[in-house]
Amino acid sequence: MIQVRSLRKSFGDNEVVRGVDLDVDRSKVKCIIGPSGSGKSTVLRCLNLLEQPTSGSITVEGEAILAKGVNVDRVRQKMGMVFQRFNLFPHLSVAENIMLAPTMVGGLSKGDARDRAHELLTRVGLAEKLDAAPGSLSGGQQQRVAIARALAMRPHVMLFDEPTSALDPEMVSEVLDVMAGLVAEGMTMVVVTHEMGFAREVADEVIFFDRGRIIEAAQPDQLFDSPREERTRTFLSKVL
Ligand code: ATP
Ligand code: MG
Repeated sequence: MIQVRSLRKSFGDNEVVRGVDLDVDRSKVKCIIGPSGSGKSTVLRCLNLLEQPTSGSITVEGEAILAKGVNVDRVRQKMGMVFQRFNLFPHLSVAENIMLAPTMVGGLSKGDARDRAHELLTRVGLAEKLDAAPGSLSGGQQQRVAIARALAMRPHVMLFDEPTSALDPEMVSEVLDVMAGLVAEGMTMVVVTHEMGFAREVADEVIFFDRGRIIEAAQPDQLFDSPREERTRTFLSKVL
């Protein structure tokens, strides 16, 4: 579903993504782990064109999305993205946050969008929060709303960038449970995470990323229990 080839991204003369190849097949889950500043977020942001890669190619469902004349909005609609910070609009209700894209760019009526918001909130366990203000919710609840909002355009793939790192520890599992639910439904996902237990449970492949490159990619048990690369071993010894 997604093919990335020789992806590079520089900020000025700082090259932070240095030749990445990545394939994400439909209904597969890739978890990306690695040290801070290694370029994980930048890779994710290149996938949905929040960053313009310096070179390389990205194909999404057969379409070369870096080509000239590509409709960026349509590409982004295929991908839901969830960030570390939930970024809900504070002046809008929970329902209005979720209804925004479907009504503004999806052509849905307000009534249909509200029905969809209700359905999505039910899925993340927050049906009763339809008309709540984001500020009245806990961090874990806000992140679940952010996931519902990302699902509102019926994306074909979900990109998560450390969705639980800004949460108090007791709220991490409610968000991971929602994500595991998406995996169970067959959602295609790319997840940057520090949650090694989650990666081990749900990932089809775990990618260890360091200094702009994929150092090692393997099935979770292989990568966590018997990594091939010294750098992977060193990193895991610090985080496990
Ligand atoms: P973390 O685990 O801390 O989130 P990361 O692996 O996601 O780190 P990135 O956020 O991709 O790392 O950043 C990689 C490098 O690129 C860092 O050195 C960062 O300072 C730099 N960088 C990221 N975005 C920009 C930007 N918009 N302009 C300049 N430099 C940037
Ligand atoms: Mg990051």
